[in-house]
Amino acid sequence: MDLKVGVIGNGFIGREHIKRINNKLSGARVTAVNDINVEASKKIAEKFGADFYHSAVDLIQSDEVEAVIVASWDPTHAEFVLESIKAGKYVFCEKPLAASAAETLEIIDAEIESGKKLVQVGFMRRYDPGYREIKNEIENKEIGSPLIIHSIHRNRVPEPQFTTEMSIKNSVIHEIDLYRWLLGEDYKLAQVIIPKTSKHAAGKLLDPQIVLLETESGIRIDIESFVSCQYGYDVRCEVVGEEGTVTLADPRQTIKRKSGQKSQHIFPDWSDRFTEAYDIELQEWINDVKNGEMNGPSSWDGYMASYTADLCSQARINNKIVEISAQKCPDFYTE
Ligand code: NAP
Repeated sequence: MDLKVGVIGNGFIGREHIKRINNKLSGARVTAVNDINVEASKKIAEKFGADFYHSAVDLIQSDEVEAVIVASWDPTHAEFVLESIKAGKYVFCEKPLAASAAETLEIIDAEIESGKKLVQVGFMRRYDPGYREIKNEIENKEIGSPLIIHSIHRNRVPEPQFTTEMSIKNSVIHEIDLYRWLLGEDYKLAQVIIPKTSKHAAGKLLDPQIVLLETESGIRIDIESFVSCQYGYDVRCEVVGEEGTVTLADPRQTIKRKSGQKSQHIFPDWSDRFTEAYDIELQEWINDVKNGEMNGPSSWDGYMASYTADLCSQARINNKIVEISAQKCPDFYTE
C-alpha cells in the first residue's frame, strides 16, 4: 500500500518533492496539497490527482494523510511541525526546522512528550553519494585524522528578498549540519569575516561571507558563502587529514574538447546538482515511515544547526569570535 503524503507549500521545492514522489520514487503518493497561493495549488492538485486543502491544519489532521511534508516558507515550519506531532504523524520538514533555535526547542519538547521520533529535517547533503563517500573515507581512517575542511557554497543569484543573515541561516546551514555529521563532533567557536562586497550583491546584502568554525577537537572549517557569484551553482569540499586529503567529486565529470577549448558543465542551481541526494533522501524517508522508524536528520540536528547558525549571525553582527557552548543531546535522540 502506498503511503499517503500531504505536502504543505507548493513552491519550488514543494513541487519538486511532489513530482519526485508521484513520478519517480516508490511506496508513496501525494494525496493532499496546501499552499496560500490557492489557484496555483489547486492546479497542482489536479495535475497530480491530489486533493487541495484550504487549511494546512485540516490537511495535517485528514485521514487521507498519513505523513506530512512541510515545504512552506521558514517562519511557518514550527507551527506545521508541531501540528503534525500533535496529530501523531511523521513529518519531513525542509530546512531550517524553524525560524529560530528557540522554536526548534519547542518542537523537541513536543516530540519527546509524544514519546515517538516523528520528525526529519531536510538536510539532503547527507544523502549525496559524494559526501557519503567522504564520510566513509573519514570513518575508515583512509586520510588519518581530519585537521581542516575547506568549503565553498556559491549560487548564481539570490532571490530578491535574500538578506545577509539568510546567507548563514538558509544557505550555510547545510554546511553547518553536514560537517557536524561528517566529523561526528559539535562546534566550539564561530567567526564570520566579511570581505569586500561584490558589486553584484543587491541592496544591503553583504556578499560574499566567510564563516570559520572550530570543532570540539580543534578541527578548523572555512566556508565561503557567495550567493551572487553570477556563473552557476558551485559546491566544493576538501577534507585535509594527517595522511591525505579527500575532495568532493562533481557528479557531472564529462569534459568537452572543441574549437581549441576544454570545457566542463557547471550546474545552474541546487536542484540540478543535488537531484540524486533529494531522490535518496525522500525514498529513505518513505521507507523509514513505512517501517515506523526515523533514521534521518532529527529535530536535535535541526536544533544544533539553527543554534550554531544563530551564533554565527551574532559573530557577524558583533564582529567577534563567538563561543558555542556544549549542548547535551537528550537521550531520546541517541537511543
Ligand atoms: P518558495 O518557492 O517560495 O515556496 C514556498 C511556498 O510556500 C510558496 O508558494 C509560499 O507562498 C508558500 N507558503 C508560505 N506561507 C505558507 C503558509 N502559511 N501555508 C501554506 N503555504 C505557504 O520557496 P522554496 O524555495 O520552495 O522553499 C521552501 C522551503 O524549502 C524553505 O523553507 C526553504 O528554506 C526550503 N528549501 C530547502 C532546500 C534544500 O536544499 N533542502 C532547497 C530550497 C528550499 P508565497 O510565495 O505566497 O509566500
